[in-house]
Amino acid sequence: MTRWITIDGRAVPFADGQTVMQAATDAGVFIPHLCYHPDYAANGSCKMCTCKINGRQMSSCTTRAVEGQVIESNTEELNSERRALAQMLFAEGNHHCPSCEESGNCVLQNMAYRLGMTALMFPNFHPGRATDATHPDVLLNRDRCIYCELCVRASRDTDGKDIFCISGRSENKSLTINSDSGTLADSGLSIDDKAAEVCPVGALIKKREGFKQPIGEREFDRLQGSGAQIRAPRMPKLIREPGKKLKLATCSLAGCFGCHMSFLDIDERILELVEHVEFDRSPLDDLKEFTGECDIGLIEGGVCNTENIETLREFRKRCKVIIAVGACAISGGVPALRNTIDVRELLEETYINGMGVDNGQIPTDPELPHILERVSPVHEVVKVDFFLPGCPPSADAIWRVLTSVVADEQPNLPYDLMHFD
Ligand code: SF4
Ligand code: SF4
Repeated sequence: MTRWITIDGRAVPFADGQTVMQAATDAGVFIPHLCYHPDYAANGSCKMCTCKINGRQMSSCTTRAVEGQVIESNTEELNSERRALAQMLFAEGNHHCPSCEESGNCVLQNMAYRLGMTALMFPNFHPGRATDATHPDVLLNRDRCIYCELCVRASRDTDGKDIFCISGRSENKSLTINSDSGTLADSGLSIDDKAAEVCPVGALIKKREGFKQPIGEREFDRLQGSGAQIRAPRMPKLIREPGKKLKLATCSLAGCFGCHMSFLDIDERILELVEHVEFDRSPLDDLKEFTGECDIGLIEGGVCNTENIETLREFRKRCKVIIAVGACAISGGVPALRNTIDVRELLEETYINGMGVDNGQIPTDPELPHILERVSPVHEVVKVDFFLPGCPPSADAIWRVLTSVVADEQPNLPYDLMHFD
């Protein structure tokens, strides 16, 4: 006789011994998760799959399905807690998606998209843990490890080798290698081991195989169960004067100008845009000062020096809505890769010790803006009203957001326009 549980009001059958997660997955009901893998015993460590089961919060991957259970999963309360977990994972590692070999195929990144996470809300730890590149075929970047223990389980249960373990607690937690040297080189790990391919993020990756074609939402659906994006980011409504064009300002802080280039990629649609929008201070029209108050300020780039801070404050004062555009504005992006290095060391390497530098000196002209200790995202300096992720965001994503604002609608960024890379 078939027995049933209910998940978000939907009747789901289960077999003897199945967990709530297994029953949900078999029925195509998506419960967000990171450390769960159908081939391994669940360890319930990531807490992303926490549901309300008969009114109590419990991990769905470790709780057995019982006849008549009532389960809530896709609720704003639970999804907001899951977003906080994703936020903490991003903050305690170095997750610079634009420079990560796993981008587009990463379970953490995909989960963040699904949960509608567009920006980092906690200050980043920038941990700088040791990378292990000693193995000829496999690289371990500990700063991207989310401690899901899948490599631990795969090595022990499938490969019969027991190469990995998690040691330490809190910020001293680390993925440790069981070998004489403590490195992968003499660990006995083979490129064909299950442990070498099971990592859901870009922590343990095969060398020479990075930057594969992103597998996309449909494939994630196949691997993780179906489920649409859970929450669309929201923008404050602009109060507009009837018949007046919206005024738009843009600037580039520490970035590559790629987001502005992407803006220009809207091509002939810009003619449609200027019917409704007038440009103010922007490199696009070469206006270096504001001519008045603005409706929208688009900010590209991270905050790396004192001039960037002044520019940002001016934009915040002049613009009703600030949109942080692209990975550098949202998380510090590629410029923030320097955050694990001392600024003095960085300047000495660039101006004194670097390759090809003779008789160099660190510039001290008072006209030059001071470099900051670390590159910050824009929202650590001023309030940001909307985040448009991407490295760069596509022209279509920029177009979607601007035309939504012009039409007085909330911008809706579907999965295929939401990218950290
Ligand atoms: S793609 Fe790489 S950097 Fe981005 S979340 Fe995944 S592991 Fe982290
Ligand atoms: S290296 Fe990858 S598989 Fe291993 S614990 Fe870290 S995130 Fe999980």
